[in-house]
Amino acid sequence: MERWAGRVAIVTGASSGIGAAIARTLALSAMKVVGVARREERVKELAAELRKEGAKGEIFPVQGDVTNESDIKRVMQWTKEKLGGADVLVNNAGVAPSCVLHRFRTENIRKIYETNVIALALFTRDFVQDLRARGVDDGHIFHINRFTKNSKWHNNVKLNFNVSSTAGQSIIHNRGIYPYSGSKHAVTVMTEGLRRELVELESKIRITSISPGLVRTEILEVTGLTPDIAKQTYDTLPCLETKDIADALVYALGTPPHVQIHEITIHPTGED
Ligand code: NDP
Repeated sequence: MERWAGRVAIVTGASSGIGAAIARTLALSAMKVVGVARREERVKELAAELRKEGAKGEIFPVQGDVTNESDIKRVMQWTKEKLGGADVLVNNAGVAPSCVLHRFRTENIRKIYETNVIALALFTRDFVQDLRARGVDDGHIFHINRFTKNSKWHNNVKLNFNVSSTAGQSIIHNRGIYPYSGSKHAVTVMTEGLRRELVELESKIRITSISPGLVRTEILEVTGLTPDIAKQTYDTLPCLETKDIADALVYALGTPPHVQIHEITIHPTGED
């Protein structure tokens, strides 16, 4: 990771879960991290913690809603003016509100695609534009994807939504989750398409998708589960910790420039 010391990473969704762990790990690796989230206070707390711990790098909180294009432009501009521009982009911000077929709210499905897909594409476009304008060609883009095979996680969520018949599990195993799964399939295809476009541009910018199974974060609560049920889910199923994902990202980032790691899938041991 030495060659990244002092360089700049933008991490979206740095206020909790996987994004916070990635921001922390990169700051501990001496990077300057622009932590983007709507809840800026949470990123400020994280930045203060890191300073107390004597991290060699630093977290710079920038409030922003990734579904607003003007916020994306403002984050890019801020990064350029204050830190000289970003070298690494971590498209991590994501949401998974429940969308049960016959009664989901329009705003839920819009939010999923605006956050998980469109924001990622806009951030990546502006990031690549900026890198190329600056003549920097060893940048790295990360997508935090999702391993979307049907899993006990989905079954568990469904059971906790009080679907009483276990016989129905195989029919509705993805109940309310399919738009989120669709958005993450889009990320998979976009990652490969972007990689090929970068190759066509003869760019050395690398792109890596990291696809975890279940990770202990706040996402289940944001999805609509009560804190008790979310905790029960995490306590009863095999799950990863956020640091496991940050460690995988550091591994891919730290490889020599000629190595392009396309995809990392990480399961908690025992996940089906
Ligand atoms: P959390 O709910 O803990 O974190 C989500 C982060 O995204 C928060 O920091 C939130 O910040 C940010 N975010 C959401 N919407 C916006 C927005 N409009 N603008 C800016 N930031 C936003 O979830 P996770 O850490 O679990 O999720 C992170 C990523 O990992 C997501 O893409 C998710 O799909 C993926 N993932 C999660 C897995 C899991 O099991 N937890 C498994 C596989 C992938 P704020 O609310 O402050 O804006």
